[in-house]
Amino acid sequence: MTAKQPKSILKKTREPSAPTTTVVGSTIVRTGPPTPQSKPLPTPEEARAIALSHAHSIQIRKVLELSILTSLEQLVDFPLPDSTSTDLKCHLRYFQPSDFDSLMEERRICDKCSYPLCPNPPKRLAGGGKSTYALVNKGKKTMRFVEKEKLERFCSDICARQGLWLRIQLNPEPAWTRAETISDAQVDDKGAVSGLDLTGEKWRGGLESKILLLEEAEEQRRQAKWNNTREADIKKLEEELMEVGISFEKETRGPKQSDSLSVDIKERKNEAGMANPPELILTDENGSRVRAIEGYTPKIGPVYTRKISTEKGE
Ligand SMILES: [Zn+2]
Repeated sequence: MTAKQPKSILKKTREPSAPTTTVVGSTIVRTGPPTPQSKPLPTPEEARAIALSHAHSIQIRKVLELSILTSLEQLVDFPLPDSTSTDLKCHLRYFQPSDFDSLMEERRICDKCSYPLCPNPPKRLAGGGKSTYALVNKGKKTMRFVEKEKLERFCSDICARQGLWLRIQLNPEPAWTRAETISDAQVDDKGAVSGLDLTGEKWRGGLESKILLLEEAEEQRRQAKWNNTREADIKKLEEELMEVGISFEKETRGPKQSDSLSVDIKERKNEAGMANPPELILTDENGSRVRAIEGYTPKIGPVYTRKISTEKGE
C-alpha cells in the first residue's frame, strides 16, 4: 500500500513568459525564450521609425501641455479689460474637463468667481466652521448635503450654470491624441515642434466654434438649431447643477411661449377734442328756455318739456 503523495502547498512555478520585444534606440532587445509562433522582428529601420514616432508624440504632448498651462494662467486673470468670449473659447480649445477643474480651483484661491467672464468674488458661506459640507435647499424636495468647496466656486447660480456648461462641452480626449489637433504637427531632428495651432489663429479662422456660451446655446435651442449631442449636454448640466442644489430652469430660460400672454397696448388719440358734460335744458310751451331749480322741475305752472342734450347751445 503506497501512501498518497501529499499535495504541495507551494505556488506552482510560473511557466516561461512569452518573448517580448523592446525597442531601445535603434537596437532591438529580445527577452524570454523563443517560441516557434513569435512574430517576425521589425527591421532596424522599422524599429527606428517606431522609436522616432514615440519620441515625436512625447514632444507634441509636452508642447500642448505647456500651451494648456499658459492658457490656464491667463484664464485665472480673466476677465481682462479687452478680453472677449471668443478669447475665452480659444483658450479652452485644448482643455479637458480636468483642466477646467484646475482653473476653478485656481480662481477660487484667487478669490474669483469660477466663471472666467465674471469679475465678482465667489460667494462665501456664512459661519465657516470645521464642517466641509453644507445643507442646501432646506425643507425642499431637493434638500441635500453638498461639499462647501463646490458651493463656493461661483458668485451666483447664474454663473454656476454658465461655468459648468463650459466644462461639460470640453473634450475628454487629451489634445495630443485628437486627430484634428495633431494632423499637421511635425517634429524636426532637434525635437522642435511645428504645425500646431498654438496661437489659436487657425481656430479663430474656423467657420464655427464648438464651444458655446450658455446664452448662445439657449438661443440656438430656441431656434431649433440643435442636435442630440447638445441636448444630452443640457441633461448632463441639469444633473450636475442638481448635485449642488441648483435648478437649471430658473432664470436661464424665459417663460414658455404657451405661458406668456401677449397684450397689444394701443393709445387712443382724442380726435373729437374736449368732451362736454350733458346739460339739462327745459323749455316751456312757447319754446323759451327755462332752467330747473337745482335740478328740480316745478310741477305747478307751465308744462315743461325735458330734453337732454350733449350739444352745446341747443
Ligand atoms: Zn460670477
